[in-house]
Parts: sequence; structure tokens; C-alpha cells
Amino acid sequence: MVGVPPERLNGDRRAFPMSSKILVQHGPAAAAVPLVLDSPHSGRDFPADFDAAVSEFELREGEDCFVDELYLPAAELGVPLLAALFPRTYLDPNRHQGDIDLELMEGGHWPHEHVPSGKSRIGKALVWRTLDDGRPIYSRRLAVAEVVARIERCHAPYHARLRRLLDDTHRRFGVVYHLNCHSMPAVGGKQGEGAEGRPRAEFVLGDRDGTTCDPAFTEFVRATLAAMGYEVAVNDPYKGVELVRAYSDPRRRRHSLQLEINKKLYMDEASRTRHAGFDSLQANLSRLVEAINDYIVQELGRD
Ligand SMILES: [Zn+2]
Repeated sequence: MVGVPPERLNGDRRAFPMSSKILVQHGPAAAAVPLVLDSPHSGRDFPADFDAAVSEFELREGEDCFVDELYLPAAELGVPLLAALFPRTYLDPNRHQGDIDLELMEGGHWPHEHVPSGKSRIGKALVWRTLDDGRPIYSRRLAVAEVVARIERCHAPYHARLRRLLDDTHRRFGVVYHLNCHSMPAVGGKQGEGAEGRPRAEFVLGDRDGTTCDPAFTEFVRATLAAMGYEVAVNDPYKGVELVRAYSDPRRRRHSLQLEINKKLYMDEASRTRHAGFDSLQANLSRLVEAINDYIVQELGRD
């Protein structure tokens, strides 16, 4: 064996409720235009069996705070928005399920499919080992059964729901656009992406160097944000990870783009509270989603 097959572990994927402690889907069940949003890192429902050595406040360092709320008005426009409710530090759905950090495992051993991405280097594989400053999250190692349970409870249903949303939309329209929604610290940390201490742009778009969506779509989103006055970087330092890789195939008109928002635009990172910029950013994200809707309708009109 080889991995932990999501279908086997979760039974009938259609049986998932619309909302559970693991994930929630906002907006319509089916997309009005072929656009799907997901927010994999905004969850903060801490499972009782986390058993970490640092506080919940510290564990929220890995959270893309309020990103689901920032996009809620977009969901009201008719765009499905899938959001994880479990914390990213408990299990990161933006990783392959085989991306196991062996340093965190009892005996340094993982008996299932092992697909290292290199994120273990910064302590941020499927289950995080360290905080951004390098401090360990656990004072123990994790048992194989414990990590398998996290995969079954969190990773498998999140991926199953996202895949179903994208597949159903693609089937109906012959095309699907997927915005994978994140936020990032204003400045690179000791174990963050990019150089420590380096300030990030206001937005970073990631299409894994032009491989996960039509480059024209990336350019459209970049230009739309730039026209609003934002500083936008592309694939630097974030190129996009598993969720834009796994279900995209631009040649088959399946387009996924990662969108990172600089936290300084809407929140105070030290207190993890939103600031006065939240409302204007939220309004601009709605304008962005409306512009993307128009772009997609135009693309469909060319068929
Ligand atoms: Zn994120």
C-alpha cells in the first residue's frame, strides 16, 4: 500500500453533510459560473487530541486568519467557497497526504506512501513540526495511527469535497477556474518561505511557474489587482503547493491559481485581530471576483 485511499476511508463521498466540524461550504451548492474558491488554512476549531506543547495562540501562527470571511461576499455572488475548520498546524490540507516529516514520527518511520515535498526542511510538511521561529510544536513524536487518523478525518474529506466541486463544475461547463485563497505574514520568518526579514508584496499569485492555469488568467488577476493600486508579485516567494497542483490541468481547461494576501492589509499579526483595513480589502476582493466572473463569461462566449 501505498497511501491512504480517501474513497476507502470515507465511504460514499456524496454522504458528507454541507457543514461539519471539518469543513464548511459557503455559497451555492453548484457554481453559477465555473469558478470555485477554497480557503484551506482559516480553520481554528482545535481538536481535543492535538496534544501540542505550545499554546493555541501560538499554533494560530500558521492560520490564514479570516480569509474565509474576507471572501464571504464573493460566495454571495454565486461562487462556492469551501473552507477548512480544522487548524492548519494540526494538518495542512495544502500538502500531499504522503508528505510526512519523518523527524516527527515515532521511530522516524512511516509505513505508507512517502511523498516528501521538501517542506520538512522548514518543519511544514503535512503535520507541522515547528513554528516559524523554529520552536518545536510537540514535546513528543507522533504515532503512525495518530497521523493516519488526521488524514482520514481532515485531509481526505477536504480533498474529496474540493475535487467533487471542481469535477462537477468542469463537467457542467467544460472549464473550471479555481482560486486557492491564502494570506501570508508581512515579513518572511526564520522558517518561512523566502528570505528571513524580507517584506512580502501585498499580493502574491502562484501558478507553479505557469503550470497550473492559463498564464493569461494569472496575468488578468495580476493586472486587476494592480489596477486597484496593489503591489503584486507572481510566484515569488510563493509558487503554490498541493491544492493548485492536484486538480489542475490547463490543457483540459482546469485552471488553479493560488492567491496570497499580505496580512498587513487587514489584520494586526501580533494580536491576531482584524484592523480598519478589513472592510476595504473585503470590498476589493468582491470586485476582483466580479471581474473574474466577467472574464470567465467572456471566455465561455468565445467557445
Ligand atoms: Zn495558506
